[in-house]
Amino acid sequence: MSTLVFLEQHEGELQKGALGVLARAVSLGDDEVAGAILGAGASALAAEAGRHGATRVWVAEGEALEAPLPQPRVDVLAKIVEARSYDTVLFGGSVLAADVAAGLAARLDAGVNWDLVDLAREDGRLVGKRPALGDSVLVDVGWKGTPAIGIVRAGTFEPAGTVGEAEVVEAPAGLEDFSTVATMLEQAHEEQAGPSIEEADVIVAGGRGLGGPENFALVEELAKALGGAVAATRAVVDAGWYPYSAQVGQTGKSVSPRLYVACGISGAIQHKVGMQGSNVIVAINKDANAPIFEYSDLGVVGDLHQVVPKLTELVRAKRGAA
Ligand SMILES: Cc1cc2nc3c(=O)[nH]c(=O)nc-3n(C[C@H](O)[C@H](O)[C@H](O)COP(=O)(O)OP(=O)(O)OC[C@H]3O[C@@H](n4cnc5c(N)ncnc54)[C@H](O)[C@@H]3O)c2cc1C
Repeated sequence: MSTLVFLEQHEGELQKGALGVLARAVSLGDDEVAGAILGAGASALAAEAGRHGATRVWVAEGEALEAPLPQPRVDVLAKIVEARSYDTVLFGGSVLAADVAAGLAARLDAGVNWDLVDLAREDGRLVGKRPALGDSVLVDVGWKGTPAIGIVRAGTFEPAGTVGEAEVVEAPAGLEDFSTVATMLEQAHEEQAGPSIEEADVIVAGGRGLGGPENFALVEELAKALGGAVAATRAVVDAGWYPYSAQVGQTGKSVSPRLYVACGISGAIQHKVGMQGSNVIVAINKDANAPIFEYSDLGVVGDLHQVVPKLTELVRAKRGAA
């Protein structure tokens, strides 16, 4: 059996999620676990991929691969898969990975399973585990043909360091005409102070109960006092109160901090699936029947406009006194 892992990189940094998928792929015991690094600086990252368990690293650079656009990556990956007849192609979940995996599946007439939270080999066949029914059950998923293409849910596996060294191979060249038609006009980076929601130990999240975008200041102040990050529900992101990068849930990010404080959030299933892995969940909601209380460790029934500033004050006093 042989597996190829798309090692997504941005600005010379291999993405943690992809390295986690590589670590899991190595643990499956395949004959070959290779990585593909595409875009500017790919060759310089090959050694790092080797230290994370890849025995072979395919690299491709060039103008068409500089911007994070999917189609040129589909071209290169399709050629790599054909060159070595990989049985399995794995991706760590991301916006780019989802585009590339879908394009690759269409190109190779292969099947793709996404949102996987575990992988196993059973009699040589890949079996994925995928949450269903709002994450309340795990189902086994399989593939009818090859290659089996899988997208792993973001943050599922941790990277593992080894002492390995990879053989570095130039990926087969040649892009389709239609793959270079799209161009990246602009890229923007969001400035952020403090930890990101994927990395934060503490998250304070705000929902529609805040009443307006200006009240996110309450959530930000509490997050600052706790040394945490700010998250949001889709309702407030859709309303333009907070950026999408902070959205937690089915169509946002999955987070698992030590403490998740939900302020004015009803606790819809689509929000729950993104934060139920948190160690301790605290909910502040004025409606005692809000669904979030069903899965909170601690609940405060009250008006967040009164509770949150008091809580911030208490945390500051406690931390100041410490
Ligand atoms: C396909 C699909 C995907 C989705 N993906 C996501 C996703 O990724 N993430 C996500 O979050 N949602 C997602 N949703 C939306 C989800 O169903 C809910 O609509 C959304 O989570 C609700 O957000 P909310 O809790 O902020 O708002 P509401 O449901 O309106 O809840 C507001 C809460 O605030 C409380 N409240 C009001 N005023 C106060 C106050 N003064 N003090 C204290 N409490 C107060 C209310 O009692 C209420 O419980 C998705 C929906 C669909 C259909």
